[in-house]
Amino acid sequence: MMPALLNTLDIGIIVVDKDLKICAWNEWIARRTDQQESRVLHRRLDEVFPELENTSLLKRIDDVLISGYPAVLSNVLNRNALPLSRYGRYEPLQQRITLVPMKERDERFCVIQVFDVTAAVMREQILEQQVRQKKHAEQSILKSEHRFRTIFQRAPLGIAVINSDTGNIVNLNARYAEIMCTPVEKLIGVHWLHGTQREDARDAERMLRLLQQGRMPEFKLPRRQQLGSGDSIWLNCSVVPIPLDDDEHQYHLAMIENITDKKKNEEQIWRKANFDTLTGLPNRNLFKEKLGDMIRQGKRHNRPFSLMFIDLDKFKEVNDSLGHDMGDKLLIAAGRRLTDCLRESDMVARLGGDEFVIVLPGLTNRSGVEKVAQNLVRALAKTFILADQPVSISGSIGITEYPGDAANMIDLLRNADQAMYQAKNLGRDRYHFYSAQETVPPSMTLIQKSTPEQPTVQRRPD
Ligand code: GH3
Ligand code: MG
Repeated sequence: MMPALLNTLDIGIIVVDKDLKICAWNEWIARRTDQQESRVLHRRLDEVFPELENTSLLKRIDDVLISGYPAVLSNVLNRNALPLSRYGRYEPLQQRITLVPMKERDERFCVIQVFDVTAAVMREQILEQQVRQKKHAEQSILKSEHRFRTIFQRAPLGIAVINSDTGNIVNLNARYAEIMCTPVEKLIGVHWLHGTQREDARDAERMLRLLQQGRMPEFKLPRRQQLGSGDSIWLNCSVVPIPLDDDEHQYHLAMIENITDKKKNEEQIWRKANFDTLTGLPNRNLFKEKLGDMIRQGKRHNRPFSLMFIDLDKFKEVNDSLGHDMGDKLLIAAGRRLTDCLRESDMVARLGGDEFVIVLPGLTNRSGVEKVAQNLVRALAKTFILADQPVSISGSIGITEYPGDAANMIDLLRNADQAMYQAKNLGRDRYHFYSAQETVPPSMTLIQKSTPEQPTVQRRPD
């Protein structure tokens, strides 16, 4: 034996003879068993290591001694085959053992070589754990992707993924296609605002720029959308950016909801609040709002306008003689005739009863206003045919001018009302311009006046 050489090796060496008696025991083994060679020499291996009794190691050593063939014991099947520990601490040592037969002077020996594979096993275990963790992470990504896809596909909202640079749709769910009445495949690659009404599309583009610049986290905007069928719907559109991934492209999500019915309801409520149900003309509410706008714009841009207050003459008699329904028909027809005398930019409203108001913007000279007034008086005095029956009536019109007569709503209304009563007082079927000299309350004083004295009083031209 070459003990000095054996002691330099970084593996454990035990040599046993055919009776399993120990013939060599190197330093490596001595350090890991805490037993020096001198104490174990010539003792049986299973006496030094009683825990080996009935283990496969002893059996394999016997086999090697008998057969003369080497054998390898993997650490997987023979964990801690020999009771070795690392560095004095009790820390079991993972071993791979090779059994090599040796013959010397006709005597058979078995060289037991022990390799410490603890570090390799630990590395393997760590690697295995990493593989397991990676697999787990991949599975949870797959799961969350699946979950996301399910949410994306089944969401009650239409969702589209948009390339923020090109504005083209890169992905969309079934609901989005359903709302747009277009198959999914026909929407891929199409601009997300295709078919959106021009002003709404402009607003959306402007807001998207702010979103891309990080100046707003998200935005919502109602937009009118033309469908392939030609129908137009209202969409509520929410837009949020998608955080950047490795890809250098920026994306955003456009989520749409069809709010056409809601808009129709709102529109109906708004119409009810702002339009007269009988004539379909704007009502007192809307008229006051528009008049307020006109006054504000008039102040800002120095724009004059005229306000006319019209009350039908002896309307009660129509109701009384022909019935309320005929009265209604007459109100509708009168409203239509008034409208027909006006331009697009003018406004006619029914205040209630047989009272109408008209605002004429942009007519700067009195003769222009007079011309309109003459047309209105003439139109109302023309015989109406209602339910095949001729009905005659007339109207009295009071006219006031902004800003010449007054610059606020209350005074303008009072002026127009006063001028109208003056027209009634002067014999009806005519128009009358407000005059500051007639500042008496109409209901009391004007009615008592019998003769026209004001130069503003005009008879309806024949
Ligand atoms: P005047 O020449 O002084 O204006 O007399 P008038 O008969 O036209 O009476 P006035 O303008 O004071 O009253 C208008 C009437 O219109 C009062 C009311 O009975 C009637 N009226 C109000 N609203 C309606 C309506 O919606 N339908 C109908 N048919 N009549 C209405
Ligand atoms: Mg009347």
